[in-house]
Amino acid sequence: MKNYQLTKTAVERLLAGERLLQLDDFERYQLLEQADEGEVIALVDAGQQFVAKALVGRQHKGLAWVFTLVKYDPWSAEFVEEMFAESVQRRNPYFRDTQTTAFRLFNGEGDGIGGVTMDWYAGFVQINWYSQGMYQYRQWFIDALRKNVPQLIGIYETCRFAVSEGVPAIAHTYGEVAPHPLIIKENDVSYAIHLGEEWMTGLFLDQREVRQFVQTQSRHLSVLNLFSYTGGFSVAAAVGGASRTVSVDVANRSLTRTQENFALNEIDALSQSHEIRVMDVFDYIQYAKRHQLRFDVVVCDPPSFARTKDYQFRAEHDYGQLASQLFELTAPGGLCIFSTNHSAYSRQQFLDDITRASKKHVGNVQLIQSFGLPEDFPTSMDDVSAYLKVFVFYRGH
Ligand code: SAH
Repeated sequence: MKNYQLTKTAVERLLAGERLLQLDDFERYQLLEQADEGEVIALVDAGQQFVAKALVGRQHKGLAWVFTLVKYDPWSAEFVEEMFAESVQRRNPYFRDTQTTAFRLFNGEGDGIGGVTMDWYAGFVQINWYSQGMYQYRQWFIDALRKNVPQLIGIYETCRFAVSEGVPAIAHTYGEVAPHPLIIKENDVSYAIHLGEEWMTGLFLDQREVRQFVQTQSRHLSVLNLFSYTGGFSVAAAVGGASRTVSVDVANRSLTRTQENFALNEIDALSQSHEIRVMDVFDYIQYAKRHQLRFDVVVCDPPSFARTKDYQFRAEHDYGQLASQLFELTAPGGLCIFSTNHSAYSRQQFLDDITRASKKHVGNVQLIQSFGLPEDFPTSMDDVSAYLKVFVFYRGH
């Protein structure tokens, strides 16, 4: 194992709980360019004293994840199993909850090992690999999973890095094949999950608390769900008694997927009350303004970057502008729920941008609630780790 010297600030960051390393955290970073994917490296300070060990796995967030600050911890199947067993232990309340059958089982750095996550969907697990380096150790993780989760029915894996030839980016790799769709429950609301097709399975588990909030706040109200994907927020609102929902997403598949989720909960998706529009959100906003539409609850959860025929959206650049338009579509006394999962867009910057947008808006707007990641998505101290930021604003009369 080679030693690499960290900068003073990098040492301080690791001691403070951060786990992600970038090239410029190293004194002679050129040396790191040669490090192999999957290589375990020792990190030392200016006095050549041991600080931590890390695994090289290049992904868009960084170069390597620290997995221990203990000199004698080896990177081994036993170490992986121990970390994984602890993460399963922490999920015991989730395994026991009969109203929620999908949750994050292993959350990368938040559970001690960055570069891999696992989601539990009613007996099936999707493992997400974020680097070639981590992928090399897949068998250790799979063994740990099979050993520690006896209820396991089948495994799907996705590779979110440039895979070498012959390696499928998404595959069923163990046990039974999941039904299509696989039905999971979240706070007793049913959602359809499609495993083995895309990285995105049909439901973003990290928004569970926000969906529940929407469900409890929507009774007798009209709800606009922008960038609605499979309609998760709309379905939660409808189950919570919303009088009307409008779901807007530019992707064709959002229509059938949203209908499917409504149907699973015995809500008539074809009724006048629940509109599903396959169109560009930015066009819909113009349409809504022209027709002076107003909604009691507006949910906005865009991707970090989006480019459609006519528009380009970058969260950290354009969210403020989007938010100010949405305040106008919110009825007095209504709620605006703004979400971003962009890890490079800081919580403070996001809040400042929306607050600035709210100031432009006539009428009184107040921040009343915020959400981050739920407990099954533990984080490290790295900024990129706590990527989900959700703010709820109340529009006064
Ligand atoms: N809010 C969703 C997840 C959104 S994922 C949920 O909680 O389930 C982002 C979605 O934005 C994708 O479904 C994508 O099709 C959609 N999208 C991206 N750009 C868009 C645009 N300009 N107009 C409408 N939808 C867009």
